[in-house]
Amino acid sequence: MTIAQKLSFDVQLSDHARTAAEREQVLANPGFGQIFTDHLVSIDYTEGQGWHDARLAPYEPLTLDPATAVFHYAQELFEGLKAYRQTNGSVVTFRPYANAARFNQSAARMAMPELPEETFVESLEQLVQADREWVPTTEGHSLYLRPFMIATQVGLGVNYPSRTYKYMVIASPAASYFTGGVKPVSVWLSTEYTRAAPGGTGFAKCGGNYAAAFVAQRQAVENGCDQVVWLDAAQHAYVEEMGGMNLFFVIGGKLVTPALTGTLLPGITRDSILALADDLGLEAEERLVSVEEWADGCASGEITEVFACGTAAVVTPVGSVKGADRSWTIGDGTPGPVTMRVREELLGIQYGARTDLHGWIHKVL
Ligand SMILES: *Cc1c(COP(=O)(O)O)cnc(C)c1O
Repeated sequence: MTIAQKLSFDVQLSDHARTAAEREQVLANPGFGQIFTDHLVSIDYTEGQGWHDARLAPYEPLTLDPATAVFHYAQELFEGLKAYRQTNGSVVTFRPYANAARFNQSAARMAMPELPEETFVESLEQLVQADREWVPTTEGHSLYLRPFMIATQVGLGVNYPSRTYKYMVIASPAASYFTGGVKPVSVWLSTEYTRAAPGGTGFAKCGGNYAAAFVAQRQAVENGCDQVVWLDAAQHAYVEEMGGMNLFFVIGGKLVTPALTGTLLPGITRDSILALADDLGLEAEERLVSVEEWADGCASGEITEVFACGTAAVVTPVGSVKGADRSWTIGDGTPGPVTMRVREELLGIQYGARTDLHGWIHKVL
C-alpha cells in the first residue's frame, strides 16, 4: 500500500569523508562494486505509518538483530542503475522512473511496500548530489547506484510478511566493464538448474533469484564458459536470459529478444534497445527463441549475432555456446556490426554524445 506523502530528507554530511587524493586513487582504478562513496540514503517503513525517517547520512555499517527477517526468509529486493558524467559536464541518470516502476513491481511480488516513484528518484538525486565528486570523469566509467529494500522485523514467524522495512541506496564508482576492447563471452546452457518458473519470482529483481543461480554460474565456469544461459523451467527448450542480463539475437537481419513470459527479468536496457531499433532502421520482435533455433540458425548462417544487455556491462557480444550435448560458434565468434552499433548508440545517449530522442536522460547536476 502506498501512502501518499511528501517525505523530506534529513541531510547529515559525513565528517570523515575521504580526501580528494584518496578519492582520486580509487577513481583511477575503480573496478566494480568494491569501494563505496561517503554517503548513503536510508528510509524506514512501518506498517500503519508508511515511509518515514528519510535521510542522507554518512556511509556506515548496519546493526541488525540476528533474528531480523531478511536473514532468514530473504524478503529483499534491489535495483541497479548508473549516474554518468556527460561530455558537457552534467551528471545524469538513465530512465530512473523505469527503475522506480520496476522496484515497485518487485515489491508487490515480494509482499513489500511500494515506494512513491518521486521518492525513489529523489533518493538517487540526494546521494548523487552529496557524492558528486565520486562520479568518474574517465570515459566509459560511471557511478553505479544500488537501491535496495530489506525486511527488518525481528522474529522467526513465517505466517505474515514483515511489518517493517528499510530502503537504502549506496553508490560505487565503476570502471567500464571492458578494459581493452569489447570481448565476446562464452555461455553454458544450463539444463540441470532453472532460474525461474511460472508463478515464481523471475520478473522480480530479488536477491533470492541470485542465491539460487550461483551454483549454475559455477557450473558454467567449470565447463570453461564465462556465463550461464537460463532456459525455461518446464521444457529446457526456450532461451530466457544470460546471468544477470537479457539476450538479443540478430536473425535474418532482425533483432529478436525472448518474450517476457513472467520468468524473465524485464531489463530496462532490453526495453531501450527495442525502442532504439526503429531509430537504427532495424526491425525488432519479442517472441520465444528455442535452443534448437539458436543452434540451427548459427549453422545455416541465419543467426549472425547474439548479444546480452544490462546496466552493468551495457551490451556484451556472445561468441560461443556450450551445452551438454552440443557446442557452436556464433558467426565467426567476434563482435558483430549490429551489436557494436547498438552498444555505441546506447552509450552515446548515456554519455551525451548522441541526441536523446526518447527523453531517457534525467539531469541531476
Ligand atoms: C538487472 C537484471 C537484468 C538487466 O536489467 P537492466 O535494467 O537492463 O539493467 C537482466 N536480468 C537479470 C536477472 C537482472 O537481475
